[in-house]
Parts: sequence; structure tokens; C-alpha cells
Amino acid sequence: MIEISLRVYAELNDYLPEELRKKEFKLSLQENSTVNDILLKLGIPKQEVHLVLINSENSLLDRILKHGDRVSIYPIFETIDISPIKIVNITGLIDTHVHLDEIDNLQETFNDARYAGVESIVAVGVNRQSNQKILELAYKCNEIKVYPALGIHPTEINNDEIDVSIKFIKENIDSVIAIGEIGLDFWYNVNKELQYKVFRIQLELAEKYNKPVIIHSRGAWEECFEIVKEYKVDKAIFHWYSGPQNVLEKIVQSGYFISATPALEYSSHHINAVKNVPIEKIVVETDSPVRYKTVDGKTYVAKPKDVIKPVIYISRIKNLPVNEVIKIIKENTIKFFNF
Ligand SMILES: [Zn+2]
Repeated sequence: MIEISLRVYAELNDYLPEELRKKEFKLSLQENSTVNDILLKLGIPKQEVHLVLINSENSLLDRILKHGDRVSIYPIFETIDISPIKIVNITGLIDTHVHLDEIDNLQETFNDARYAGVESIVAVGVNRQSNQKILELAYKCNEIKVYPALGIHPTEINNDEIDVSIKFIKENIDSVIAIGEIGLDFWYNVNKELQYKVFRIQLELAEKYNKPVIIHSRGAWEECFEIVKEYKVDKAIFHWYSGPQNVLEKIVQSGYFISATPALEYSSHHINAVKNVPIEKIVVETDSPVRYKTVDGKTYVAKPKDVIKPVIYISRIKNLPVNEVIKIIKENTIKFFNF
């Protein structure tokens, strides 16, 4: 006999007796047993298993186990590892919100993203320096299509640079796909009047040049919605929407969009938003390089390759096949940005 350590993730836990769920436990097996034998023993259907790690390495189901191996069994995408994406061979993903200028090792990031089925990225700027960098990166990137969006983020306002930043956005307006990331953030300690002022200037730009807007509305959901409504801006994404339901209803009624992020793994506010918005009004994003939590209490820094995650969670929330979700979200995104 050999003994291994086993951990089973998320919904697959339902196959285990109560006392073994959500923790690592020891399992005794015959010599020469494989992962398949574990599944048989525990009654977990093979088709629901999409990734097995043995001692943190990818493994096939027929690999023979050794005494002391640590085995982790995941359902589809219940992991930060890119490997399950190989299994379903995904294409057609668009990450609509990436802080490309803040990501190290862009080459690897683009390769991983391409490999994970990401076709294009919308790179958002937040201040004068980042806007300039975003434009440069968008021009010179060949690996993946990068569409630049420029803006002054509410938490990045520098009083001395407002004019020069706005001038830069105007000068490059023909090259940008949207104005963003812009908005209000009342959880952050920046003078509210100043936030309103800068937000309004940029909404005027969007109206004048007929550009969509990408909106940051943390702690100021209602206020953001009311201001956007004042302008002739037909296309707005309320990025990573996690605000109240009554504002969400108004957002939907006005024909605006929300974006879904990997926070769907744990954020009840965000999950509720996605539940209550028709899928035709949803796009997906990672807000890379933001740090997200996972169900098992770890954290990770998102990259564009992780944009599959909100897709998976949407497919669960809306009860639609993953490929169908990808198709609808791609259509939404193309329609929204007019690629
Ligand atoms: Zn952002």
C-alpha cells in the first residue's frame, strides 16, 4: 500500500463525505495506483475533472502514483494555472481593461495571453506618463492587437498636470479606442471637487469626439451614473461593477455595459451584478496587474491570460456553455468598441 495526500477543489467536493471536504487528507491506495483509481474510489466522474496536479506539476490521469505524492484535483478552471485552457482550446477572448504599462515582462505576458486564446487587449491609461506609455506600447506590439484608451484616473489626478494630460489625450484622440480609465472614487482620498472636474472634462471629450468611456466608479456608483447621463455618451462600461442594485438597473436601462473580472470567484457584490445584467451588456477584463483572491484563500497577480476566468464564472452564473459565452462576449465587445 502507498499513502498520498489529496486535495479536491470546489464543486468536486460535493462527491466527498462532509468530513473530507475543503481540506487536504490522506488516502491509502494499492501499489501502482493512478489518478483514475482515486477518482473511481471517491466516485468523482472523470469528465468533471479538468486538471490534476501531482506535487504541483500537471499530470495525466493514468500517471502512477508514488508514496507521499501530493495530488490536487480541480474541476474546470478552478485554478490559476493556465493548463486547463489547453484542454478546451479556446480562442476569441478580448481583455477590455489592462494596465499594460504596469506589467513587467510584457513578452511573456503576450505569449501567455495568445496561448490562452486572447486575441486583443484594450490598454487603459491613468495619468500623463501612463497614457504616453500605453500609446507607445500599442504602436509597437506585434504579438497581440493592443487598442489604446487614454484617460486620467480619479486616484491619479495631479493638479499641475491636468491641462497637459488633457492636451495629450486630445492630440492623440484619433488613435484611441475609448476614453478611460476615468470616473470617481470616493473610497480614495482625493478632493471630490477635483475628481468631478476632471471627470467632466473627459466626458466632454468623449462627447465631442464620439468615443466610448471606461468608468471607474468605486464608492461613487450613483454619482458616476448620474454624471455620465448628463452627456451625450452612448457607450459606457462601468468597469468591475460591484455597486448597488438600483444603480445597476439604471445602468442597464440606459444601455450601458458592465465589465466582469476574475473577482467573480469571490465577490458577492460583483457576482450579483453579473447575475442581474443581461449577458448582451457584459464584457470581460482582468484589470491586470491587479491582485485577486482565490477560493482557497491564496492571491495572485492577474495577467490578460486570466480573462478566461470571468468567462467561466459567467458561464456558471448564466448557465450557458463556455464557448457560447465567449461568442456573445466577443460580439458585445466588438460592437461596443467598434473594432
Ligand atoms: Zn483599472
